[in-house]
Amino acid sequence: MITHDADRSNAGRARPPAWGLRHPVMLTALVALMLTQMAWAQRTPLKPGWNMFSPQQDVEMGQQVSRDAEQQVPMLNDSRVDKYLNNLGRTLASHAPGEKYPYQYKCVNDRAINAFALPGGFVYINRGVIEAADNEAQLAGVMAHETAHVALRHGTNQATKAYIAQVPLAILGGALGNKNSVAAVMAQIGAGFATNSLLLKYSRTAESQADEMGTQVLYDSGYDPRAMGQFFEKIQGEEGSGRQVEFFSNHPNPDNRIERVDQEIGQLGAPVRGAKTDSREFQNIKSYIQSLPAPRGGTQNLAGNTGSGRRSTHGLQIQSASYGTSDRFTDVRELLQSRVQNDRLSFKVTNASMGGDPAKSQKKTLRLNYGWAGRTYDVTAKENQQVSIPTAAQQQTQTGRSSGTQPEWPSNRSTPFENSVLRINHPDNWQAYGQGDATFTIAPDRGLVDDGRGNQALAYGLIVNMYEPRFTRNDRQQLQPRGYGQSSQMSLEEATDRLIEDLRLSNQGMRIIRSPEDIRVNGERALSTDLSNESPLGGRETNWLVTVPRPEGLLFFVFVAPDRDFQSYNHAFRIMLDSVRFRQ
Ligand SMILES: [Zn+2]
Repeated sequence: MITHDADRSNAGRARPPAWGLRHPVMLTALVALMLTQMAWAQRTPLKPGWNMFSPQQDVEMGQQVSRDAEQQVPMLNDSRVDKYLNNLGRTLASHAPGEKYPYQYKCVNDRAINAFALPGGFVYINRGVIEAADNEAQLAGVMAHETAHVALRHGTNQATKAYIAQVPLAILGGALGNKNSVAAVMAQIGAGFATNSLLLKYSRTAESQADEMGTQVLYDSGYDPRAMGQFFEKIQGEEGSGRQVEFFSNHPNPDNRIERVDQEIGQLGAPVRGAKTDSREFQNIKSYIQSLPAPRGGTQNLAGNTGSGRRSTHGLQIQSASYGTSDRFTDVRELLQSRVQNDRLSFKVTNASMGGDPAKSQKKTLRLNYGWAGRTYDVTAKENQQVSIPTAAQQQTQTGRSSGTQPEWPSNRSTPFENSVLRINHPDNWQAYGQGDATFTIAPDRGLVDDGRGNQALAYGLIVNMYEPRFTRNDRQQLQPRGYGQSSQMSLEEATDRLIEDLRLSNQGMRIIRSPEDIRVNGERALSTDLSNESPLGGRETNWLVTVPRPEGLLFFVFVAPDRDFQSYNHAFRIMLDSVRFRQ
């Protein structure tokens, strides 16, 4: 979690030089340092939203998606340009607060003005941005904005929200208990690059945050912080002038963008003396890029214009598929997904079956990534090869798995589990699984079962999660809703109602069997609600829902067991709930 205090370590650039005490420069430096401290006190504090992934998993997801991205997007692959971008980008990233991701910056051979960032620090800048920028500070502004999306973890925050909204409770519990959860989660929400709307199409709130942090990063890196706003204004003016501006299609323009950036600059304090606006290196790179041949073919649209209609949470999912040669691939994901029948896909790779010939008289390859039964697989096939997925071996492994036996009875000895939000004791023969900020599952080994459709699902155990109530159209007009507890006066009852409403969207058989009642959890007021739901084992299960307001959002516990066993587990569940201690 990023705290404002921790950010101060990044503010070292104003450290006074070790000259004589009476040297006037020393005084100036001291005043500058004080101004810096004041500026730190006033700048907009920004931290990532709630996330079910760990920062390490951001990197894992970014790595996976960047492989797809680099196949589908025409990479410039020019070491001189990429080296320049990396030097500049890493300087900026060293001033981004929070987790230190392994940032890398690459140039895309596309003249449209656009840039995008994947979780974990994979940043792509179109050559069009460099061609359109007047100076290095403007390019740095765009890169600082992208870097801020990474530091603020906007991609995985959106993936988290989509996952919770789309995935039944049992599957959520199962995915957390699955070591391969990044791949499983991505398969279920279709968060590949081809369906980039999810990871790359940000909300206006996210855009404002990236602008604010981008401005701070520019300032802290010694650049004129006005440059980012200037560049956005400039490219807004160029829309419709012939030059393609795609930036705003996946970075929606927030209201009063320029005014907000100006406001942030005002809060940063005194302008940096001798702030950098340009460099000879930038001008050299810009002329070099302008001298390169125009990209072949039409520009590929990086904007999130696909990705609709893949809501299914089960079975075979084509995550990405492209067909072509080294420099020219067409996206055939939707084509292949539409041919999936009964979770099987079988075809021969030909121009006809791929819907056309992207590169005449050249040897072409199909690159395919698919999700099935909670895992993802890569396939590379040449022309005229037969592809059948999932493979017979994969199907064998899946059906060979044992399920349905009674799980371990909860032992009387307990063991603690702790995360950033709470501490809880659980039977020592059960296991806690989880990462990210608050989300975890505690279950006996055989409490996780195959739901018959290839998903690992929770049949016995506990799921703990944080909920940010979905905002209505009116709520959304509030500035930066930060979730329950901070953003609104929403009552515990109302927040619990909204949670149940949301849960019912992805758990169709769910209904309330006992209305909310007041209870206490670690001395805090909480609500206890009994729900009935479909069990992944078949038949019905009881879900005992406990909701507690916390500063981070609405914390909820769901204790799960089939109806026939719920009474026997009730005692163990109550002991677990009684052991909860909040960390603040
Ligand atoms: Zn953005």
